[in-house]
Amino acid sequence: MKAHILTIGDELLIGQTVDANAAWLGEQLSLLGLEIVRSTTVGDTARAMRKELTRAYEDADLVVTTGGLGPTHDDLTREVVADYFGVPLCENESLMQLLRSYYERRGRSLPEAARKIALVPAGFDLMDNPVGTAPGLWHTTGDGRMIAVLPGIPKEMQAIAEAALLPRLREQGNLQTVEHRTLLTTGVGESSLQEKVGDLSGYLDDALKLAYLPSTSGVRMRLTAYGDDRAEARSRIERLEQVLRERVGQYI
Ligand code: ATP
Repeated sequence: MKAHILTIGDELLIGQTVDANAAWLGEQLSLLGLEIVRSTTVGDTARAMRKELTRAYEDADLVVTTGGLGPTHDDLTREVVADYFGVPLCENESLMQLLRSYYERRGRSLPEAARKIALVPAGFDLMDNPVGTAPGLWHTTGDGRMIAVLPGIPKEMQAIAEAALLPRLREQGNLQTVEHRTLLTTGVGESSLQEKVGDLSGYLDDALKLAYLPSTSGVRMRLTAYGDDRAEARSRIERLEQVLRERVGQYI
């Protein structure tokens, strides 16, 4: 399954907030075996979101968005997503109840703006938010496009993803197993290491990848393998590790 991560918010574009959501989702989804084809950020404008959704589905089956789900005027994600999929927004009664009791427990009446949180695009499922008010949204279209819409606050986004999104994707099956292994080298620079490793074109393909990650403590080689099951992915990685140890073992 191919996924596109779309983080939304002007604060991300101007560098006021570091995009922690894209990093967390990238790690979690790829560990699950999804291929992340792109990760992009757009500001709080309907036009940019719409354009990016259209572009995302050119390559991905699943789009995961974060941000813009709140009650304020710059939170446009639910409107844009509903419009993109051509469905109306409907007030969800159980969500409305949940919101009322949330505010009642705090001795306050429901602010008018907060009612927006109870608006759900028709036909979308709710993904419960164990730590906040705005739930996540999930939808699958007849032509196989999937979307998960999550709030921007990292703690809330992660709680919904862990409780509802990741289990749902796991259940859906049809996912490849991914296996990573990292070999730390020392005493050799990135360019010479690659030269010494030599040609790997007979080994590397879409199911087996090698990345060079330089740092001050040495160059790490990250091996990534995909397979229908763990044993298949592991045997691919072990084959590559063996070749690397034969060629540059003295630096590992
Ligand atoms: P709320 O329901 O609270 O309004 P929301 O879904 O509307 O949430 P935003 O208003 O877009 O989310 O963002 C809320 C806060 O979450 C921002 O102030 C920002 O600090 C943080 N945030 C948003 N997106 C990200 C991100 N991609 N990475 C890290 N933090 C983020």
